[in-house]
Amino acid sequence: MDRWVEETLHGGFRVRLKADKVLFDSQTEHQQLIIFENKDFGRVMMLDGVVQVSTKDEFVYHEMMAHVPLFAHGKAKNVLVIGGGDGGVLREVLRHPDASRATLCEIDGSVIDLCREHFPEISNGAFDNKRTRVVIADGTKFVAETDERFDVILVDSTDPIGPGGCALHEEFYADCRRALAPGGVLVTQNGLPFLQASELKQSVGYFRELFEDAFAYMATTPSYFGDAMSYGWASDNDDLRQYTVGEIEWRYAAAGAFPTKYWNPRVHVAAFALPNYVLDLVEA
Ligand code: SAM
Repeated sequence: MDRWVEETLHGGFRVRLKADKVLFDSQTEHQQLIIFENKDFGRVMMLDGVVQVSTKDEFVYHEMMAHVPLFAHGKAKNVLVIGGGDGGVLREVLRHPDASRATLCEIDGSVIDLCREHFPEISNGAFDNKRTRVVIADGTKFVAETDERFDVILVDSTDPIGPGGCALHEEFYADCRRALAPGGVLVTQNGLPFLQASELKQSVGYFRELFEDAFAYMATTPSYFGDAMSYGWASDNDDLRQYTVGEIEWRYAAAGAFPTKYWNPRVHVAAFALPNYVLDLVEA
């Protein structure tokens, strides 16, 4: 009998993925975790009924979460990833030669262990890199307590229905702001504007209270069904999201022009061009 796994994120819209082979299906200390093979998306991990990562399209989400803020910042040395236990964002951060230290704070150590076992190509050695530090802790607590200052903070967390889902908590964003070095950038996984409009509107609304510049950018990841994914963006300098293609090309060349599958300087600049229905959420 075929097994179909249903995504249960949205109230009135559901998709099902065929599990050709289930590799893991169990409750961790924090959440329900299933990993399975699917003909169209490759290997897929879902947490609490929500697609997190698939081997066929992970490059879109991970490249766009890391390279847009790192190239915009231009000289990020100390980077914090909150969540991100699959290691994909960490892998992309480490491709920046200036990033001398990358801390990954993941609440659920079993996500890291299972992803290292079943998705080794996603972290691709990033967890063993000398520049990497892994902290198993609630990211909200970590940023509240840390004395460190980070140039870029990337919130690669689950939607706010998960174990800790960091988004939508003003105190958390305020702590992120405090943990940013001057000139720092905060980027958050902010859901699908079409189906999760209030999530983006609320996050960017909080950013506006805390930062000089609050915005979002978008990228289409096929396995996040229902819209392009939005990334929340907060910094104190709106120049950081207004560089020209030429300026980003120059920074990319200076970083060694490493190969990418989705991000490039033109995509980088275009990602900030938001359609009006998203601008309405971001500028409300
Ligand atoms: N790209 C994904 C998506 O579709 O939203 C998110 C990646 S997934 C690896 C997100 C990770 O965030 C999960 O491993 C989850 O355990 C972790 N997470 C959730 N809440 C967290 C928190 N409060 N602190 C640290 N990690 C958290």
